[in-house]
Amino acid sequence: MEVKKFELNDIVEMKKQHPCGTNAWKIIRMGADIRIKCQGCGHSVMIPRREFEKKMKKVIKPVSEA
Ligand SMILES: [Zn+2]
Repeated sequence: MEVKKFELNDIVEMKKQHPCGTNAWKIIRMGADIRIKCQGCGHSVMIPRREFEKKMKKVIKPVSEA
């Protein structure tokens, strides 16, 4: 199984886009729970890391390459 790598401040795409129509989220907190912020409307959600790994599709823009 593929291991997804992500870091704080990465911009990621989720499997389901936010109802506002944007599918770009910035990781703003890392821990047992991950907090991501919608780049379209600024709404933020906190989800358990395991769930995040399942729902995250890919890293659009790694902070290390920004
Ligand atoms: Zn949004």
